[in-house]
Amino acid sequence: MRDTWGSLNPLTPEPRPISVRRPPVLGSERQQDYSLPMSKKPTDLERQRLTAMQYAVTRENATEPAFTGEYVYNKDDGSYCCVCCDTVLFDAGTKYDSGSGWPSFTAPSANERVVLISDNSHGMHRTEVRCTNCDAHLGHVFDDGPDPGGKRFCVNSAALNFKATDDNGDES
Ligand SMILES: [Zn+2]
Repeated sequence: MRDTWGSLNPLTPEPRPISVRRPPVLGSERQQDYSLPMSKKPTDLERQRLTAMQYAVTRENATEPAFTGEYVYNKDDGSYCCVCCDTVLFDAGTKYDSGSGWPSFTAPSANERVVLISDNSHGMHRTEVRCTNCDAHLGHVFDDGPDPGGKRFCVNSAALNFKATDDNGDES
């Protein structure tokens, strides 16, 4: 858990310092300017490359409607990569049918590849899952997963890019 994430969440910006020289003019501020470090800001290029749903989910914390994502029922062998930065986030071997309507995994491919953040939005107490490398919103993790770990990583299809493993064991 990284306690600095509160200041990185665009929904809960830090209070502005008192010593601001010019008071902000209403409507002229762009929230993202102080919410993310430069290296993790979404670029115009990325915005053009992603679909509207992919962008809304990964950069605006949206959730795709249940049972609509392209990977909900995918059972093929392979890897699920971040749709923004291509980091391998989940392996097909940890995917299971939770019945929730979203791709569900028991664990990330490596713990350090995702960041878990306390999320109290929408009147719920949840734990958000983000890509460590590029800060993309992926979904949430819940404690109602199968044994032995008991975790359910509930991830939007729109945040993922699946790469199937062919018969030779190589990723295509
Ligand atoms: Zn990423």
